[in-house]
Amino acid sequence: MLHALVFGALSERLMVSSPPPPDKDCKIKVLTIDEAKYVSARNFAKAFNVRTYYRKESGKIVLFFTQKKIKITVNNSFIMFDAQVFQMTGPALLIDEDVYVPATSFLELVRQNTIPSLQYSVTTSVEPYYIKENTVVHAATVAAQPGRIRSENVNLTGIRYDEKANGVTVRIAAEGTFKDSDFSTFFKGKDWFYLTIYGAECDSLALSSVNPTNAFQMVEAIATGSSVQLGFRLNRQFKSADVHYDLRSGSILVSLFLPLNRDIKRKIEEAKTAWIIDTIVLDPGHGGKDPGTPGRWGYMHEKDIVLDVALRVGRLLKKKKNLKVVYTRKTDVFIPLWKRPEIANKSGGKLFISLHVNGLANNHTANGMEIYLLRPGRSEDAIRVAEAENAVIQMEEPEDKVKYQGYDDITNILANMVHSINMRDSELLAGILSRNFTERVKQKNRGVKQAGFYVLVDADMPKLLCELGFNSNKAEAKKLNSSKHRQKIAEAIYRSILEFKEVCDKSVTQN
Ligand SMILES: [Zn+2]
Repeated sequence: MLHALVFGALSERLMVSSPPPPDKDCKIKVLTIDEAKYVSARNFAKAFNVRTYYRKESGKIVLFFTQKKIKITVNNSFIMFDAQVFQMTGPALLIDEDVYVPATSFLELVRQNTIPSLQYSVTTSVEPYYIKENTVVHAATVAAQPGRIRSENVNLTGIRYDEKANGVTVRIAAEGTFKDSDFSTFFKGKDWFYLTIYGAECDSLALSSVNPTNAFQMVEAIATGSSVQLGFRLNRQFKSADVHYDLRSGSILVSLFLPLNRDIKRKIEEAKTAWIIDTIVLDPGHGGKDPGTPGRWGYMHEKDIVLDVALRVGRLLKKKKNLKVVYTRKTDVFIPLWKRPEIANKSGGKLFISLHVNGLANNHTANGMEIYLLRPGRSEDAIRVAEAENAVIQMEEPEDKVKYQGYDDITNILANMVHSINMRDSELLAGILSRNFTERVKQKNRGVKQAGFYVLVDADMPKLLCELGFNSNKAEAKKLNSSKHRQKIAEAIYRSILEFKEVCDKSVTQN
């Protein structure tokens, strides 16, 4: 709150030389606040013998010129000439029960909209004018004046329009730079969008146009001397606007955005398709120089069992329309662990299943299938399995090993993932798969477990790792060596994927 505004001992007066004002004796008060001149709206009206209507409660004053009604609102920089809105370089201020408006922009707007012959000058009066004590001016209001008075205005040289799917971009070429505070925008109803550029000037004709693009009926440029106002008559209902100075192109970039609901609708549709289970990534573990658990008694190595099962699952899935199958390997080749989830992610995979076979060097009795979720290992057994499957990193080339350096604290990474949607879906699939193993495969089912597998960490989708049995157990190794048995396993996995897809897709389309 300011009690007295200091504006010099001698007050200033606005002298109107053309047209000759009816009331020659009327003195139009001018105040200087923060180096900007303000003129009394009431005095101005009186000089032209124009009736005013002032409503204290709403802070609105109306000047009834015969040509146009001028509406001014206290603490507001917008001014209306009949139904047209313009913006002054600063808000109108209430001082000593009178409404003061930024002189230059107000007078220029009056000249352009109401009195074309208006000519004026500001002279120093002999009678000093003091603001009464206790005049209340909110400091914030004064500070909020956007008007940066430049020594020289920046010339705006051209305007270009680009229609985009989500709105329109308008580029205004400028011969100098601007700051964000030089711009001010507002929508007036559905029909108009106004942009005021402070410290700018232009050839109004060059920037104005009719039907410059489908989005606008017309664009009107008005130079007020200290600013340029662009009025866009809208053909579309935009929801918001953004203006900034683009250093790269040396132009003012105005973006008008179409309503959100259209965007949201499109995004929801995109999100829905993103969640549809349409790409299945099958990851047969090991391969090439890495046999996995070695085959004994003349039976198959882990790498060969899992590749065969993966190819069988893939063949079944390929019969289904709208389902794409991606393999991390289709032949007996070595693929580093880090590359497997990368293949899955790059192919837009929606489900990742890594296939393995367990093996124990000193235990020939352990048997059964296991399904693993990616979580910090809870049991020693699970940790052992994870360590065994992660051990392949030692076989990888030095440049591959580098990729795991960030995973030293794997438990940390895993902790963050536990609550993810992918985890919930992985659990869902694990449940379905475990049931199908029990129902369809004549083999012990050790159930769903959790452990930290490198191969699962980076796959950005629901994911599981299956240990299809122990080939360190002679009976199970024999089973896994049978193509008929492997087909049963493949069918159980295939059925589970279809069940999982049905549940997930249904929840997506229902939401
Ligand atoms: Zn393995």
